[in-house]
Amino acid sequence: MNKNSVDRYPVGRYSVDRQQDTAPGARGATAVVDPAAEREEAGRLWLYAPGQRAAERVPVPAGPSPSGDAGPLEAVLFDRDGTLVADVPYNGDPSLVEPMPGARAAVEALRARGLMVGVVSNQSGVARGLLTGDQVAAVRQEVDARLGPFDVWAVCPHGPGDRCGCRKPAPGLVLAACAYLGVCPARTAVVGDIGADVGAARAAGARGVLVPTPMTRSEEVVAAREYARDLPGAVRLLLDGPSAGEGTV
Ligand SMILES: [Mg+2]
Ligand SMILES: [Zn+2]
Repeated sequence: MNKNSVDRYPVGRYSVDRQQDTAPGARGATAVVDPAAEREEAGRLWLYAPGQRAAERVPVPAGPSPSGDAGPLEAVLFDRDGTLVADVPYNGDPSLVEPMPGARAAVEALRARGLMVGVVSNQSGVARGLLTGDQVAAVRQEVDARLGPFDVWAVCPHGPGDRCGCRKPAPGLVLAACAYLGVCPARTAVVGDIGADVGAARAAGARGVLVPTPMTRSEEVVAAREYARDLPGAVRLLLDGPSAGEGTV
């Protein structure tokens, strides 16, 4: 039996043992799972406030909030894997955290201009039984120590089949982070390495900037409205407008 799967949700709304649900991608419902509790889990994302180790489980926002005026940029939300740090699939080990080139400078440049910064991250390894909440929290703490602190983290613990409303490209993580920060999505940008990141931005009414890696599919690069070759380039684009190597299409 895989013991890790027992505590895959860090705050136990489950009173039952989910050990039977350990196969990657498995959902479902064993006889002991309360369907109402299952729906409840799909309706909550994990929000980390600065300085707090444990996540708060908050409802996924139902949809874009009444839109405020577009105006000066107030917050930038970064994808984690393949954007802020090198993508190590289902990483639960803080010692494997490796910042991407320019990540620290990019985050500091935003802070220096008075913008808030956050992280929005799909972590389906939780739903797949490959990651515990403690591991997600430990990696987050390491990323915060190396690059942060960030003003908010919003994490989706669900899998692709969960229809949760927070797994990017759904807008839930972006909306929840904006709500926590008290900023309008129209004054927020999302920076990420795949189409789902800019898709979530668009769905939330925020600006999306793609910073491709060699793993990014070419059609996602083609579809991006705004792009940059690295994180400092993305920040220059957001703060100062297009220049060589970054731009809009
Ligand atoms: Mg990514
Ligand atoms: Zn989710």
